[in-house]
Amino acid sequence: MTVNLLEFDLDGLTAFCERLGEKRFRAIQLFRWIHQRGARDFDQMSDLAKSLREKLKTSAVVQALPVISEHQSSDGTVKWLFDVGAGNAVEAVFIPEDDRGTLCISSQAGCAVGCRFCSTGHQGFSRNLLTAEIVAQLWFAEHTLRERLKTKDRVISNVVMMGMGEPLQNYSALVPALRVMLDDHAYGMSRRRVTVSTSGVVPMMDRLAVDCPVALAVSLHAPNDLLRDDLVPLNRKYPIDELMDACNRYLVHAPRDFITFEYCMLDGVNDQAEHARQLVELVQRHAGAGVWCKFNLIPFNPFPASGLHRSGAVQVAAFAKILSDAGIVTTVRKTRGDDIDAACGQLAGEVQDRTRVVERMAKRRTIAIEPAGSAARPHKEA
Ligand code: SF4
Repeated sequence: MTVNLLEFDLDGLTAFCERLGEKRFRAIQLFRWIHQRGARDFDQMSDLAKSLREKLKTSAVVQALPVISEHQSSDGTVKWLFDVGAGNAVEAVFIPEDDRGTLCISSQAGCAVGCRFCSTGHQGFSRNLLTAEIVAQLWFAEHTLRERLKTKDRVISNVVMMGMGEPLQNYSALVPALRVMLDDHAYGMSRRRVTVSTSGVVPMMDRLAVDCPVALAVSLHAPNDLLRDDLVPLNRKYPIDELMDACNRYLVHAPRDFITFEYCMLDGVNDQAEHARQLVELVQRHAGAGVWCKFNLIPFNPFPASGLHRSGAVQVAAFAKILSDAGIVTTVRKTRGDDIDAACGQLAGEVQDRTRVVERMAKRRTIAIEPAGSAARPHKEA
């Protein structure tokens, strides 16, 4: 049976090479060929002994994901749809900016969390991606773009795990993939240029803090439990106060970092002045005078099944001002790739929903907008 070498971080590749009777420095050479030079043909790897190349040909492959489609936006954003088998597809999006190139990649085919404003969440969940399938998105994008731009320099400087899926619900595949991104013999990204975005899987946030404390973004989207229970159902298991405590613990392991709170602006749902004031109170209650977070206000990308609408620019600006006036760093995300549906999940279509999220989603009531000022929560789900 052949092994896909994109599955391994350097320690994993070393163990694989040792099984072939080879030393660690051979694994480092191989790792560099694959990730720094984009090689997949072992005959190309000229500084490897011929005997090793022959062994690799019978035991290993460097297997990319088949590309179903590619869309390029007029603003330079590129979106790929990859086939991960059994009728499932995942997306990766490259977003070029003046000072960086960011790749947004997926961790699961679909997602079981079922956030109300998320196209992926409305499709249900099929399966976790393998480490190789997570890494393959970066490997393909980096080397495809280098070839197109006719450069040997690195094109992708930042990775955000904000595509399809909840990365911390695919922890065992995620961590080796992060290690590949950080490894100087592979992509050599700094810890702060790799971001894991979570809807708040508290126990796994604690583990990530110890295992691989990369930058953390938390999908908050609501200032109180009543509203967040509805928008981000995982909140019923890990409510906001527990989530904020986990953020504080995370920063013990990632000193000088801050948590980015993502907040999708939904017209008439979570975008009122009272919601912003509740956020200020929440942050001050948990952070005291210390500044350890920033807010990123995200324009909602409408899709028909959501029944939700994007907040207007004036509303967003007023909301941002309340946070900024309270001393909280606040940015408003630019919309990118609108002409190619670059928001996560909008191209992938239905996944093979094994957890019946779609069914559960259909049974959920329409959004109840709580009276502004109410922070009470009616229940806690086991
Ligand atoms: S926002 Fe993230 S966690 Fe929520 S449903 Fe979408 S992919 Fe899953």
